[in-house]
Amino acid sequence: MKNLTLPTYEDVAAAAERIKEFVNKTPVLTSRTVNNEFGAEVFFKCENFQRVGAFKFRGAMNALLQFSEAQKKAGVVTFSSGNHAQSIALSSKILGIPAIIVMPQDAPAAKMAATREYGAAIVEYDRYTESREQIGKEIAEKNGLTLIPSYDHPHVIAGQGTVAKELFEEVGELDYLFVCLGGGGLLAGSALSARQLSPNCKIYGVEPALGNDGQMSFRKGEIVQIDIPKTIADGAQLQSVGKLTFPIIQKNVDDILTVEDEELISCMKFFAERMKMVVEPTGCLGFAAARNLKHELKGKRIGIIISGGNVDISKYVEFLSA
Ligand SMILES: *Cc1c(COP(=O)(O)O)cnc(C)c1O
Repeated sequence: MKNLTLPTYEDVAAAAERIKEFVNKTPVLTSRTVNNEFGAEVFFKCENFQRVGAFKFRGAMNALLQFSEAQKKAGVVTFSSGNHAQSIALSSKILGIPAIIVMPQDAPAAKMAATREYGAAIVEYDRYTESREQIGKEIAEKNGLTLIPSYDHPHVIAGQGTVAKELFEEVGELDYLFVCLGGGGLLAGSALSARQLSPNCKIYGVEPALGNDGQMSFRKGEIVQIDIPKTIADGAQLQSVGKLTFPIIQKNVDDILTVEDEELISCMKFFAERMKMVVEPTGCLGFAAARNLKHELKGKRIGIIISGGNVDISKYVEFLSA
């Protein structure tokens, strides 16, 4: 990661052009119930309808499409058990690039099977005694593979920024944008697009209260590391934001908000019942925060990014009946 510089809006625009034939232009949905409840206009950008079921496919595709011939031949490696793993697996399959995914031994069998189905090789590790970053780095160095992390990479950030770009291009300028925050790839990319396409838009990143490292980092002005948080928002179960994402967030984001896990469950129920769609817990962060700020949002135009819809079906049933 030596020569990697911070991405700009130009990189987001280039990413949009590069990936457009591969990604879904996801729908922007509205709900009369929500608009009435808020007394505002609310636009949901639905990346749960993206390929793989989450926005991460955009960043993965944007990164792999910039591989040199030698990099393509040697392959890609990443460490993730979630949506980034599937995204790297599918985009490498589409582009004919060999892929190795470092996954915890106890990752859900369904996720491992799906990753294998896309043709990726899986290297298992013990999440209690081994470091996935270390294993990923070793594989990359030993076999000449390129490591693509899930958020802290300029091409990944630029790819994720295309979500908000599409949103602003479809609905015009907004007063507020709510974005889920894990490592910050989606938030940093969204902020680049918002600053360019809707300069007066307030941008809020949203984290689970149980894992508010991003909020602490934002307020302290330096990256704060926490223990692996115990939250149902597994896409935000990270110990810190990224070295590249953080400065972009610091410069462009207005604040980082937090929500409780119960509020995520309430949003999942709302999305299922009223909008007829499956949203994973992490994908509910933005809406949950907006609901808490309702009084401030009257008469405004609000964008909410729904980041993904991948949730284990038996867990989903538990959430809905909780
Ligand atoms: C990865 C992920 C996030 C968090 O994205 P970052 O770029 O790491 O901040 C949010 N929601 C879903 C569904 C994800 O897969």
